Amino acid sequence: MSLWKSVGNCVLEGVSSVPDLDASELTITLADSLKPVPDNESLVFGAVTTDHMLVVSFEPSTGWSTPEIKPYAPLSLDPMSSCFQYCTNLFEGMKAYVGPDGKPRLFRPEKNMARLARSAERVALPPFNTDALLALIKRLVMVEQRWIPTAEGHSLYIRPTIIGTRAALGVAASDQALLYVIVSPTGPYFRTGPKPLSLLAVNENVRAWPGGTGGHKLGLNYAPGFLPQRIAAKRGYDQILWLLGDAVTEAGAMNFFVVIKRDDDDGVDVATPELDGTILPGVTRMSVLELMQAHNDGRTKLNGLPKLHTQERKVTMSELKKLSDAGKLLEAFGVGTAVIVAPVGRIGFEGDDLTLPPHEKGLGPVGGALWRRLVDIQEGRVQWENWGVLCEDA
Ligand SMILES: *Cc1c(COP(=O)(O)O)cnc(C)c1O
Repeated sequence: MSLWKSVGNCVLEGVSSVPDLDASELTITLADSLKPVPDNESLVFGAVTTDHMLVVSFEPSTGWSTPEIKPYAPLSLDPMSSCFQYCTNLFEGMKAYVGPDGKPRLFRPEKNMARLARSAERVALPPFNTDALLALIKRLVMVEQRWIPTAEGHSLYIRPTIIGTRAALGVAASDQALLYVIVSPTGPYFRTGPKPLSLLAVNENVRAWPGGTGGHKLGLNYAPGFLPQRIAAKRGYDQILWLLGDAVTEAGAMNFFVVIKRDDDDGVDVATPELDGTILPGVTRMSVLELMQAHNDGRTKLNGLPKLHTQERKVTMSELKKLSDAGKLLEAFGVGTAVIVAPVGRIGFEGDDLTLPPHEKGLGPVGGALWRRLVDIQEGRVQWENWGVLCEDA
């Protein structure tokens, strides 16, 4: 079953006839003075704000307001607002890159728009026209073009956000909302080349569960992970490997992959947990699965790799331990927009460390080839299907 079905006919009671988001109504108010753009070397993920943001609000009687790009500034919200009390907030994470042609581009942005709409639907926030939002994001990127770092591995991180703004304490859906988009220049996740992450496998706290919200990008999924993350860091691990019983779900806020040696030596198996509702359906996850499929079909060649038997299935710690003991666990890596592909070096589990084979460049052959191809597509050096989307066409 695909979790990528679009939102379909998500119509809130009584609001079906109010105006939808309309990109053609955009008004742009430029800042009087522009901030200095930091050096590439000093960029820390998500720390720098730019000059402008996109804001649009929803009222049940008047629908989506006129979208505005305006100077970046604090929001003013009623303390009773639903987002503060009942966590009606959700977001997306995507990036704009400058290609060799000097033009800003996005990577499969329609996937982020569909996921944002799904997240909004899950917490009963109003639906919106996803094409219109994408057009508005492209306009914002063009306005902030000077903030996109051009060095390899650098990009402009884009954070579309929707919050419930109903100002009343009654426990009920928020029929008012604010949609805003902010951007922040960012450098490579690993400045000195991929450094293998250590993961602590945890099952006494869980990130997601059947019937829960782990498959949506909702703010409420992240706060409960901060204390376990802090405890894991104190024990010397970079991230948590979230389990559900014995089954692996995700690594921190990344989708998790393992590469396994096959008995018949006809290539390798590449396994990742299936999208059963407890896994965030990552755009990077989907993209690496599709690239591996294209490699197997002969539609493209991933550098030096044999046949890659991709498997979306349950992956358990007992299986990983058995494979590791037998020398069959070849690689493990996390994938996501921020890291792209991040190697895993060891996994702490039940007082022991399961160690992955070290690789000269941090990433193993499969993780490394996927990372290289994704970066080349994202930064516009390689064209692949319709994954690269220019911002100037808005
Ligand atoms: C955002 C996110 C991912 C990665 O998704 P991408 O679309 O690839 O960036 C994976 N897991 C969690 C929990 C996330 O929040």
